[in-house]
Amino acid sequence: MSDSLKNRLDSVRRRIDEACRRAGRATDEVTLLPVSKTFPSEVLREAAGLGVRRFGESRMQEIRQKDADLADLHPQWVLIGHLQTNKAKDAARLVTEVQSLDRWSLAEALDTRLTAENRVIDVLVQVKTSPEPSKFGLDPDDLPDFLQRVSELSTLRVKGLMTMAVNSPDEEAVRACFRRLRMLRDQMVARGHTHLSRLSMGMSGDFEQAIEEGSTEVRIGSAIFGAR
Ligand SMILES: *Cc1c(COP(=O)(O)O)cnc(C)c1O
Repeated sequence: MSDSLKNRLDSVRRRIDEACRRAGRATDEVTLLPVSKTFPSEVLREAAGLGVRRFGESRMQEIRQKDADLADLHPQWVLIGHLQTNKAKDAARLVTEVQSLDRWSLAEALDTRLTAENRVIDVLVQVKTSPEPSKFGLDPDDLPDFLQRVSELSTLRVKGLMTMAVNSPDEEAVRACFRRLRMLRDQMVARGHTHLSRLSMGMSGDFEQAIEEGSTEVRIGSAIFGAR
């Protein structure tokens, strides 16, 4: 069991390195965020034994439980799922980073709670790059105003953008989502948002394409931990 988790982690790291080489990029330009959502705390403990410190999780309830179970390991929780505003208090207390900041009301709620906790965290703005109605994310047209407003909140450091590509067998459609996020980032940097260096894009099924399109961080669950 522990052997197979190690093998899957090694294999994903190798595929990331190979995708970097194909794209003519340095391998240290792409970070791996293991996504442990739905897997029990013992599995995270095993991953921590293999050197994993940051864990991608989708739900505050699960983070709360796992943080209690794994308190001795001081894991870093990265929130990648839709956050209800009424859970901002827990998030402000427990997470090191939010990659799913998708609306102003959430930014305000987090700022209020982080101020109370006397904490500052990194955030990525989740942008909707696919037409699927079920996907969360900010409308790309709203990005300039949104970044302007969030830059006035002292508790949130915006470091980049995050997206989920369309769930489609059409590789070109998937790549178009990644390309769109990269272009948006470049446009925002040109407008003076020079701190937007990170692009969190790519999951188990599409991370190699994402790396070829400029991803700086891939969020990988099932290829490491198994099917959910
Ligand atoms: C679950 C999830 C992932 C990981 O998905 P896999 O296909 O298991 O790699 C990545 N990003 C987000 C936002 C997720 O919710």
